[in-house]
This record gives sequence, structure tokens and C-alpha cells, in this order.
Amino acid sequence: MSRFSETNFNGLKALVRVDFNVPLDDKFDITDDTRMTAALPTINKVLSDGGSVILMSHLGRPKDGPSDKYSLKHLLPHLKSLLSGKEVKFATDCIGADAVEAAKNLKPGEVLLLENLRFYKEEEKGDKGFAEKLSKLGDVYINDAFGTAHRAHASTAIIASFFPKDKRMFGLLMESEVNSGQKVLNNAEKPFVAIIGGAKVSDKILILENLLEKATDIIIGGGMAYTFCKAEGGKIGKSLCEEDRLDTALQLLKKAEEKGVSIHLPSDSVIASEFNANAQTSTSPSNAIPDDWMGLDIGSYACEQFANIIHKSKTILWNGPMGVFEFEKFQHGTKEVAKAIAEATQNGAYSLVGGGDSVAAVNQFGYSDKVSYVSTGGGALLEFFEGKSLPGIAAISE
Ligand code: AMP
Repeated sequence: MSRFSETNFNGLKALVRVDFNVPLDDKFDITDDTRMTAALPTINKVLSDGGSVILMSHLGRPKDGPSDKYSLKHLLPHLKSLLSGKEVKFATDCIGADAVEAAKNLKPGEVLLLENLRFYKEEEKGDKGFAEKLSKLGDVYINDAFGTAHRAHASTAIIASFFPKDKRMFGLLMESEVNSGQKVLNNAEKPFVAIIGGAKVSDKILILENLLEKATDIIIGGGMAYTFCKAEGGKIGKSLCEEDRLDTALQLLKKAEEKGVSIHLPSDSVIASEFNANAQTSTSPSNAIPDDWMGLDIGSYACEQFANIIHKSKTILWNGPMGVFEFEKFQHGTKEVAKAIAEATQNGAYSLVGGGDSVAAVNQFGYSDKVSYVSTGGGALLEFFEGKSLPGIAAISE
């Protein structure tokens, strides 16, 4: 594996797998361009070295081959503006004569965007022949798509084997994702607190099990906390509960005790009469919620309880909100946790926030530049913290 920052791309055509799977509205305007801006440092470094860039990505989940709806051409105007007005060429196919010709004619300093990789079913199947055709377009392969690193697709993993070791590498985004993930998972300064929230225990079991091997403290918030409260014999009213995970929850609590990891459940909750932004609210101990009520946020004692643990930690991982933060009445807990993480970071802790909704929360509450690292990976980050080897990382580093 070669290091991107130590490579001079002068005269080279860099084939870069980016994650431009951005949300579009019905007029094809991009509603959140985070994934595009995240790839800019890599693109700009290749260009300023005197190389050219061939960008490949998927967009959405096209089912039956090419379609206007999922065409990457919709991204061209915004990509041009992100590249300070630089013209971006477009190939109406990602393989075949058009793509080959466009790649061949690309001059140093130029950028070419290929059409949606998923217009070919071979992409998601990890087809070798398809990967080989893609590989012919560039001199070096750069993977900068952390968001798809957990997929063994043609363009994210299989393609790497068609490049010698010194011609395949992570881009700057991928490099910082991997470095920050490894810093937390493998080199965490203790105490290390993992804050896991969100809706379901079933989505987070593997990550919790792996974190039992690594963390000093695990804070459990959000809807999933109530399955744990009930497993311990608490009354949770109409709160979210996965009845078939009660045993799993108990086993996790037992394992944590054996390993000396402290698991913290919210001592109290903000409860609501119904799942509604304007619902009537009250507060209750999390293990004594009245029958017709449901816990939709952690309460004020829990905020203090969790903030104390966060403040004394040196490493912090946060995945998943503490409550239904989409509704104003139930966003206090998530906001307070974000605030405590920002304070701990300012006092020298290393904090990594990742995985969908917690990223949305730090952005919404204005804390994204007050934590050490905000990951762009949803599923990929979860699998990384589950301890799995990610095909997109393995293909380059092994
Ligand atoms: P996840 O994708 O598993 O991280 O879950 C995020 C979702 O969990 C968000 O949409 C939250 O609204 C939801 N959530 C968080 N806390 C609760 C709760 N106490 N009850 C119901 N849903 C919740």
C-alpha cells in the first residue's frame, strides 16, 4: 500500500472511488453535499500535483440499469462549483468505448466523472471482469469512499487487485476515517466511554459486544435503553421494547459485569402520552414508567449522570441519539450529551462521532467542529466498530 500524501501524481490519471451518493430532491437539487465536499481534499491534491482525476461513484439504488433518475449528471453543476468553476467532463457510461475514450483524452489538471456504477449489476456483485474494465481507465486507484468500505463491490474492493501495491491507496478522507477509527478501537486512552443510542438493540448488539472488550464505560440511551430497563425488571409502559432481545440484554449486562465494564442506563426519562411532536410530557424514573406512557428522551438526572462520565473520559465514541431528537420536546438529552462531549474534547479528550443520526444531531446543534472527528460512514463505521474487517480497507492494506 502506498501513502496518498507521499505520492506525486504529476502526469498520472487517478481513478478515484468516491461516495457521491448524495440526497437529491425532486428537482435534482442536492439537499446535503457533505459527501461531495469530503472528497475535495483528495481531488484537489491530485490536480495540484499535475495529475488528472477520474471520479467513479454510485448514486441511489437503481434496479433496472440506466435511468435518468439515478444519473450522476445531476451532480455536475454542483461539482463544478465546488471545484472553483473548473469544467468537469462526463462519461455517459462507466465502462465501454465512451468511458475509455474520455479517460484516454483526459489531460493533466482535468476531471472526468463517470456515470453511475450501479447501472451495472456487476458492481454490487463484485464482478471481476467489470472491476478489470474499470481498472483500465486509470494509472492509480484511490479509494476515498469510506461510506461503502463495508461492501465487497467491484469498485470498492475487487478493483484493487488489478493495481500493484504502490499504485493503490486510500484517499485523504479514507485515511482520516481509518486513522480515527483505529485510534478509538485499538489505541484508546482510558477511560474510554462508548455512548450508544438509537432505536433498536438488535441493530447494536454486535457493536456492544465488541465494545465490551474495549471500553471502560458504556452509556446506553435512546429507545434501546428501555429493553435493558425491562430486562432488569423495570416497568417501561409503552416505550420501545424488543421482547425477543430481553435475554440478549441480560446477557450483555452480565458479560459487562464479568469484564469490569460499567454499563450506564438513563436513571430517568422524559415521557410522553403518545409518539407525537406535540405530545403531553412528564418525567419518570426510567424503570417506573406509567402504563400508558412512553420514554422518548433521557431525563435531567440522566443528562447529569452521563455528562459526569463523559467529562472524566479520555476517549469518547458516540453513535445514536439519546431520544427522538427530531421532535423539539425530546431533543434535550441528545443536545446535552453533544455538549458534554464538546466540553470533554476541549479538555483534551479524543471524541469520534459517527453513524447516521448522531452526526445529524451534532450538525443540527452546532457541535460538529467541537468534537475531534465526525465520521462520514454510517453502516461502514458500525461494522468497523463491530470489529469486522471491511473489504474496502482490506483490499488496499493487505
Ligand atoms: P438508529 O438509526 O438506530 O441510531 O436510531 C435513530 C432513531 O432512534 C431516531 O430516529 C430517533 O428518533 C429514534 N429514537 C431515539 N430514542 C427513541 C425513543 N426513546 N423512542 C423511540 N425512538 C427513539
